[in-house]
Amino acid sequence: MSVDMWLRHLKARVLTKGAFERAYAQRSHVTVEFLHQHRRVGKPCDCREDGCDGWQMAHEESEP
Ligand SMILES: [Zn+2]
Repeated sequence: MSVDMWLRHLKARVLTKGAFERAYAQRSHVTVEFLHQHRRVGKPCDCREDGCDGWQMAHEESEP
């Protein structure tokens, strides 16, 4: 495993829901408040895809 991959892995493990939502909002050029207003929340993701930070953005009401 390269240092880059290891760091990414480490970062993914310590990333909190709040930190993910802030990063997602920043990438989307919106605020976390905007995301929540539109019922978008971070949810744990275990797809293990390359580049996945362990979280996904989902609609609040999509949860059973
Ligand atoms: Zn994922």
